[in-house]
Amino acid sequence: MMLCPVKDAATDLYSLTRQELGSLLGSWGLSPVHAARIWNRLYLGLAGSVPELGDLPARVRSRLSSGARIGSLPVSLETDSSDGFTRKYLLSLADGERIETVLMRFTGRTTACLSSQAGCAMGCVFCATGQMGYRRQLSAAEIVSQAVHIARVLRSSGEHRGLRNVVFMGMGEPLHNYDAVMKAADILRDPNGLSLGAGRITLSTVGVVPGIRRMADEARPIHLAVSLHAASQQERAALVPAARRWPLDELMEACRHYCFTLRRRIFFEWTLIEEKNDSADHAHAVGRLIHGLPAQVNLIPLNPTSGYGGRPSHGEAARRFQRVLSEHYGIPSTIRQRRGIDIAAGCGQLAVAS
Ligand code: SAH
Ligand code: SF4
Repeated sequence: MMLCPVKDAATDLYSLTRQELGSLLGSWGLSPVHAARIWNRLYLGLAGSVPELGDLPARVRSRLSSGARIGSLPVSLETDSSDGFTRKYLLSLADGERIETVLMRFTGRTTACLSSQAGCAMGCVFCATGQMGYRRQLSAAEIVSQAVHIARVLRSSGEHRGLRNVVFMGMGEPLHNYDAVMKAADILRDPNGLSLGAGRITLSTVGVVPGIRRMADEARPIHLAVSLHAASQQERAALVPAARRWPLDELMEACRHYCFTLRRRIFFEWTLIEEKNDSADHAHAVGRLIHGLPAQVNLIPLNPTSGYGGRPSHGEAARRFQRVLSEHYGIPSTIRQRRGIDIAAGCGQLAVAS
């Protein structure tokens, strides 16, 4: 008996750049001029299905109906933090995997926190996604679809300024899925679409050295945040197993390459764990390590996870860390509020809990 593969042969429109959409139309013998209208309906109209793409010549509509689709990621769970600033979605992929996407509203800015993989292979000891292990890469379309989901949520709640920022800080290691993440970023940046250009996208990496170098060499217009968590190779490798593959000295060299090639600032993330990496000595060690780079440090008190016994640092330890960085090394830092801790809003925690 023959299996019928027809449905899945349809191209997910979220997988295409605007130029590729034009080429697809061309390959069907249609004029690429329709691409602009379709793109507009996809990313400004936030159309959820091919019929919603609106007024198009019958020939275009019929070709799209048979050859294209608009991927959707149904919500299987959603939760609000008690302070109302964070809303977290557990989205289902076609093969049953589930990923997290978070909408954050801080200081008047709307930010979508996107996943780049289902699970993660990097195994950071304190991270719920790391504890879950690696499941699979996300496609560019699955990444774009998360941002569109958040844009729809904002529109339906009447927030017409829409989505302003995107961070790759959800599940997964974005530089372990380089091509799909960069393609999704290109689609999200398109000025005729979601228009998330000009510094609106930030990517956080555990420290995948070849990926950082590639971002620099390709001059990707994306902010880079590097998850440091420790300032010595030995301490770092105990928290972040990926440090054994990409040692701290190579990582710092790649960070310098990024900053000086692109003349750009870099962010470092530091998950504050009580009595593990939150002393004044630790702050001095990181200050010495990154001194001379145009850097900012984001301090994130640990979100407790079931697979790790560490505790979050107290506010006073976080403030002391901040003071050492600024007074001795002139390095600015922020303490990221653990907003949404009551909805298990740490990376990967909702997917583990459900
Ligand atoms: N894989 C990338 C991006 C996703 S994780 C990376 O590791 O950078 C985004 C940030 O959340 C990272 O800085 C990560 O170290 C941090 N993080 C993960 N689990 C956490 C937890 N339980 N508490 C606090 N920060 C956590
Ligand atoms: Fe992966 Fe980032 Fe979690 Fe580490 S912190 S396991 S790299 S998602």
